[in-house]
Amino acid sequence: MYILDASAFIHEFHVNEPTATIPGVREELEDEAAYRFDAQEGAGMRIHIPDPETIDRIRRAAREQGDHDELSETDIRLLATAFELDGTIVTDDYAMQNTASALDIPVRAIAQEGIEEERVWVFQCSGCGREFDEDEERCPICGSQLTRKRPQNA
Ligand SMILES: [Zn+2]
Repeated sequence: MYILDASAFIHEFHVNEPTATIPGVREELEDEAAYRFDAQEGAGMRIHIPDPETIDRIRRAAREQGDHDELSETDIRLLATAFELDGTIVTDDYAMQNTASALDIPVRAIAQEGIEEERVWVFQCSGCGREFDEDEERCPICGSQLTRKRPQNA
């Protein structure tokens, strides 16, 4: 499950996996990006409303990380959605990425320019040891389970 922020629609992020977002993202979009949101919703994208307790938890983590003032209400709710749905958050926002990693929420960046650490996590196969950028249920090569870890050179 990928949790999409506004930049995912602006940069035409494509993924062949279930997606989810929140109503606040739609309000940030105009023109073609808004059209892409509506098209994805029509194709089955989940529109999620996170629980208030989860939102509080995200706020606490963001304060501890020093990122809270950088995050909008929409950012906080997207992080809460990723947390509740056990999803990968898709965002280019550094404060969101930082708070997500503090909460063990996997992150996928879109437009990599200016972002040094584009891969926050890698997924390593417990059988053959291959590394993958995306979380899969099983290794596509040997079928063993993948475990999440930080890249060696991060
Ligand atoms: Zn494998």
